[in-house]
Amino acid sequence: MELPAATAVTDYYYPNKMVRIVLLAMEEVMGRNGVNAVLNLSQMKHLINNFPPNNFDRQITFGELSTLMRSLDIMYGPRGGRGLALRAGRACFKYGLKEFGPVLGIADLACRLLPLHMKLKVGADVFCETFNKFSDQQVKLTELEDRFIWENMRCPVCWGRTADAPCCFLAVGILQEALYWVSGGKNFEVYETGCVACGDEVCTIVIEKKPLD
Ligand SMILES: [Zn+2]
Repeated sequence: MELPAATAVTDYYYPNKMVRIVLLAMEEVMGRNGVNAVLNLSQMKHLINNFPPNNFDRQITFGELSTLMRSLDIMYGPRGGRGLALRAGRACFKYGLKEFGPVLGIADLACRLLPLHMKLKVGADVFCETFNKFSDQQVKLTELEDRFIWENMRCPVCWGRTADAPCCFLAVGILQEALYWVSGGKNFEVYETGCVACGDEVCTIVIEKKPLD
C-alpha cells in the first residue's frame, strides 16, 4: 500500500479557465501594462503575456489568486485596489457568462419570462453550483425572505491574507454584475459582512433582493 503524496492535499486550486477570465478582466480595467506589473509583483512572471490556457485543469492555487488581489492593494493603495478589484469582478462576469453560460444552460436566463425573484433564485443557484463544481472554492447559498446569504466556505480571493476589513471585492463585483445582468439592468446592494482575512470563519456576502432602482 502506498500513501498519497503529501503535496496532493496541501493546497486548493482554481481552473485555468477561471484565472484566465480574472486576468482578461483585469486587463480590461487596467490595461496590459497594469496586469503585467501586478503579475510581476505577485511573483507570477510566467503568466506575463502568457495567460493560462482556456481549459478546466485546476492549476492555479488559491494563494496565487489572492496574491494578485493583494498586489492590487500594494500598487494602488487600499482604496484604489478596492475600486479596481470591484471593476475587475464586474468585468469577470461578462467573460464568465461567455464561457460558462452555454455549458450551464443559463445564457438566455435574463430574457426568460420569469418573475424577477425567480430569475434571481435560478441565477444564484446556478452560479453557486458553478464554483462548487469547477473549482475548489466552496459556496453555500441560503435564501431568506429579503436577501441571499452567499458564504464562501473556502475563499480563493482572500486566501492566506489578513485585513482590517472584509477584502473580497473581486467576488462582490462578480455578484453585482451577475445580478445586473439577470435582472435586465437593475442594481442591487451586495456587500461583504464577514471575511476570513479578518478572522471570521467564512466570507459572507449579503445580496439584497430588492433592487436599488
Ligand atoms: Zn474571502
